[in-house]
Amino acid sequence: MEIFDPAELWNKEQIESVQLARLKNALARARNCAFYRERLDQAGIGPDSLRSPDDLRRIPFTTKQDLRAQYPSGLLCVPPSEIVRMHCSSGTTGAPVAVCHTQNDVNVWADLMARCLYMAGVRREDVFQNMSGYGLFTGGLGIHFGAERLGCMTIPAGAGNTRRQIKLIRDFRTTVVHILPSYALILGEYLRSNNENPRDLPLRIAIVGAEPYTEEFRGRVEDLFGIKIYNSYGLSEMNGPGVGFECAERNGLHIWEDAYIAEVVEPETGRPVPVGEVGELVMTSLCREGMPILRYRTRDLTRFLPGECACGRAHRRVDRILGRTDDMFIIKGVNVYPMQIEEVLMAFPEVGQNYLILLENDGVSDMMRVQVEVRDEYFVEDMRILQNLQKAIARRLRAEILLTPRVELVESNSLPRAEGKAVRVRDSRDNK
Ligand code: AMP
Ligand code: ZN
Repeated sequence: MEIFDPAELWNKEQIESVQLARLKNALARARNCAFYRERLDQAGIGPDSLRSPDDLRRIPFTTKQDLRAQYPSGLLCVPPSEIVRMHCSSGTTGAPVAVCHTQNDVNVWADLMARCLYMAGVRREDVFQNMSGYGLFTGGLGIHFGAERLGCMTIPAGAGNTRRQIKLIRDFRTTVVHILPSYALILGEYLRSNNENPRDLPLRIAIVGAEPYTEEFRGRVEDLFGIKIYNSYGLSEMNGPGVGFECAERNGLHIWEDAYIAEVVEPETGRPVPVGEVGELVMTSLCREGMPILRYRTRDLTRFLPGECACGRAHRRVDRILGRTDDMFIIKGVNVYPMQIEEVLMAFPEVGQNYLILLENDGVSDMMRVQVEVRDEYFVEDMRILQNLQKAIARRLRAEILLTPRVELVESNSLPRAEGKAVRVRDSRDNK
């Protein structure tokens, strides 16, 4: 196996002993801010309280609410002059959270990111085009510095401007792209509507992350472009991209356990769930100086995958993110995750790249509408064909979520598109 960093080959014991040492350091550093000092004192955790990595569970959780309350710099654990960069989370779910990095933090982050890309088969000979927004969003600079660290020529293309993206790919013979799932299909559709074959581009790998998507979706995009897609997971609170990544096996995402401790807990009780069972991912940063964050409740739902990965890396794997605890909506007493809907929709070849779930209340009861874009070649004059498709989608949705939504078929490119992360659910009920 080719590796970028010797830490990839550590066995479980090596990982655990480094984790313990680094966790102690992280605790000591965290005490430099009043927030953690008070929290840790209240929990009776002093500098020498940790004997094994399991003692981590005695540390109280940190929530998004905590981070918001400490905005902008309440969690700073170094003198402000040590900070060289700040980022914010994308704020799809409320007020921003700011994370500040020292020079060492951004170096470690770039190393982790480079390690991920290398694991997915990216090499210094590749030309890397980063199609995610730059600026506060970590998918821009975070991925960028990783690709540069690996030695790739890195094109900071940024988000949008599809025509220019394609020109850059052609002119500079781009072989690897980083792209948001919602944008990948837009790019493909654009080419097809110009009668060009997406497979003719020199691309071979796409790094796709920042928002959830299904296996069905991955299959579609891979087919469309004739490329391989690797799932990339991260969150601003833990730097950004570079936290979890797929290896060549593409069977779960390895979490770099020399830099993070991952836990999966029951959202209601905070207790660990058994390996293989779904719960909320909780993350602790081990190496961060500027703003160490302990036991962060990510709200992302996943599970540890049992067994060892065939690639030989002992760093534990989590399943693709199945949704978020705050993503789930309840309608007529049924708990629904948007990804359940996507999985059903993407199995229909007629369905295009975009969909929107609308939750409404007509004064009497809740209603769910699903607007689905239909690909141009299927948007036919014959009403019966469309009606049958509509019924078939409604039937399969019912089988998946146990209630029948109203399905509305719309023309491709007619639903609103987000520049950054896609908005999949619009809830206009006032009783939500
Ligand atoms: P941000 O901090 O704004 O970059 O947002 C981080 C959040 O994006 C995570 O907590 C996840 O909910 C989501 N996210 C990032 N990467 C992925 C991925 N590969 N699959 C699913 N969701 C993701
Ligand atoms: Zn692996």
